[in-house]
Amino acid sequence: MRVAIIGGGQLGRMLVQAGERLGMACVTLDPANDSPAAQVGPAIVGAYDDPSTLAQLVEGADVVTYEFENVPVEAVRALATPVRPPPAALEAAQDRIAEKTLFTDVGLPVPTFAAVDDLASLDVAVEAIGLPAVLKTRRFGYDGKGQAVIRRGELLEDAWRAVGEVPSIVEALVPFDRELSIIAVRADDGEMRCYPLVENHHREGILRVSYAPAPDLTGELQAAAEAHARAVADRLEYVGVFAIELFEAGGALLGNEMAPRVHNSGHWTIEGAETSQFENHLRAVCGLPLGDVSVRGQVAMVNVIGQEPDAAAILAIPGAHLHSYGKQARQRRKLGHVTLFADDPETLRERVVQVSGHLTDA
Ligand code: AMP
Repeated sequence: MRVAIIGGGQLGRMLVQAGERLGMACVTLDPANDSPAAQVGPAIVGAYDDPSTLAQLVEGADVVTYEFENVPVEAVRALATPVRPPPAALEAAQDRIAEKTLFTDVGLPVPTFAAVDDLASLDVAVEAIGLPAVLKTRRFGYDGKGQAVIRRGELLEDAWRAVGEVPSIVEALVPFDRELSIIAVRADDGEMRCYPLVENHHREGILRVSYAPAPDLTGELQAAAEAHARAVADRLEYVGVFAIELFEAGGALLGNEMAPRVHNSGHWTIEGAETSQFENHLRAVCGLPLGDVSVRGQVAMVNVIGQEPDAAAILAIPGAHLHSYGKQARQRRKLGHVTLFADDPETLRERVVQVSGHLTDA
């Protein structure tokens, strides 16, 4: 199979690595000539929306997939090669209003929200929703960028300016108990498999640590998350891996956002599950049987952000596996991750603390 991948970041790199083991020929497209994926496989350098570059990428490919959600929808719709996941999933994930409307339509509750187009509509929306609230740009937000929490009415203007005075969404700030994500894979015949819910810890809007399975995960919570994932994926006729980020509040689940791609909170699956999210994504988009999603014990994942750690110090920790993405160090940038195993939850937490102690921006 020949797989064309739009995007050459760390997710593209890990897809290429999984594809190589399966004997697939993967090629990536990225504007940077030293992208993480270009370091491990054939890559085309160019713009995502340049028709001639896209034509070069898909030449001879059996399927086109992508590793980030801001892929230009019209450009991929124009391709003759099958695109999986379907462009409709990109459309939903690119616009926070469309995304929350989709969740609501299929029965996944979301925080109360309203569209905001100017300061006056922000004022009206906050009046209806109440405070505290969070204002987010409708499009192109990631890792907490383009967001402002509003705690007092007199700060509306500051928040509007902070997000860049662009079409936005305002949501009730949910006093959640914890953040979870469900990572699932759907085949084109509708078969679906879900990894166990993962508990995620963010700081400054960036994912820092994930625990899999989520501590104290009950069968009911897992079943509820799986039912929501299925409803969303069936509606989109989805093919491939996706993640839905959820808030758990008082035992209930609320939908925050979806990623129509492999996801940071699923990196632990490389060593921690029978089949990694990367392999399962490739299996699904290539029409191959889906892989076993069972977890191999208690797993955690710690992101390496901003600065490369002392590899020897990390690797000296029992049960630690270091992944480095080959990126230039920069503040707030994800440079790698560490997967950790332990036989019991306490030891796992201790090892997370140990790893974090070796990370400068942990
Ligand atoms: P997002 O880009 O929407 O995933 O938001 C980044 C982070 O901000 C989330 O992981 C949460 O920690 C927090 N956050 C976003 N939306 C809300 C909300 N409506 N209520 C509470 N916290 C939120």
